[in-house]
Amino acid sequence: MSRISVYEVFGPTIQGEGMYCGHRTMFLRMAGCDYRCSWCDTLHAQSIKQARYELTEEEIVQLISGEAGGITKRVTITGGNPCIHDLSRLVSLLKQENYKIHIETQGSIIPSWLYSVDHVCISPKPPSSGNITELSSFDKFMSSVAAKELKIVIGTDEDYLYAKKVHQEYKSCPLTLQACTTGDPLPVLNWLIEKVSSDPGFDDNVKVLPQLHVLLGIK
Ligand code: SF4
Repeated sequence: MSRISVYEVFGPTIQGEGMYCGHRTMFLRMAGCDYRCSWCDTLHAQSIKQARYELTEEEIVQLISGEAGGITKRVTITGGNPCIHDLSRLVSLLKQENYKIHIETQGSIIPSWLYSVDHVCISPKPPSSGNITELSSFDKFMSSVAAKELKIVIGTDEDYLYAKKVHQEYKSCPLTLQACTTGDPLPVLNWLIEKVSSDPGFDDNVKVLPQLHVLLGIK
């Protein structure tokens, strides 16, 4: 019987980032990532060795449903990078239970099960991460995944230019510019709002947000 490396299940809570910001959801955080970003806010789940649980697909669905208590039928699978895992069976079981499945990933790996989920939030990593997602490798991801949005963490001018390049390349895809929250998030947020508000290089498909859950101190 196969087991999956899980860091945690939590919720119901709200999504704090991207186009579903403020929407109710459960979170399933997988352990393990193929990146090592300098400002990673989930260092605790970067390595697969940090998994708190090794669970079967049935146990994961049971855990999610038990915690959700019928309040929400949305589950956001995040990490780490959930795409390093084989989640085919889990996705199919969650669908049988009528869950809407959202995935958060940086766009480095495309597992086949990704085509069966309801929404993918792709978060390519900008220069300040020290782990830049090259647009050339990322292109395959963008052209093959249908229901998607882009989210880019911005902390520096270089990140801002990177995000603008991504937006120019994929204009039809909704893009959230997320102020980096390694320190006090408000100065970065204000700087970002000011820049975007007067920049014709971005269109109205772009929005600026803080990491709401970090700002409010909620999980
Ligand atoms: S991709 Fe995400 S989880 Fe992985 S190291 Fe970067 S910020 Fe952390």
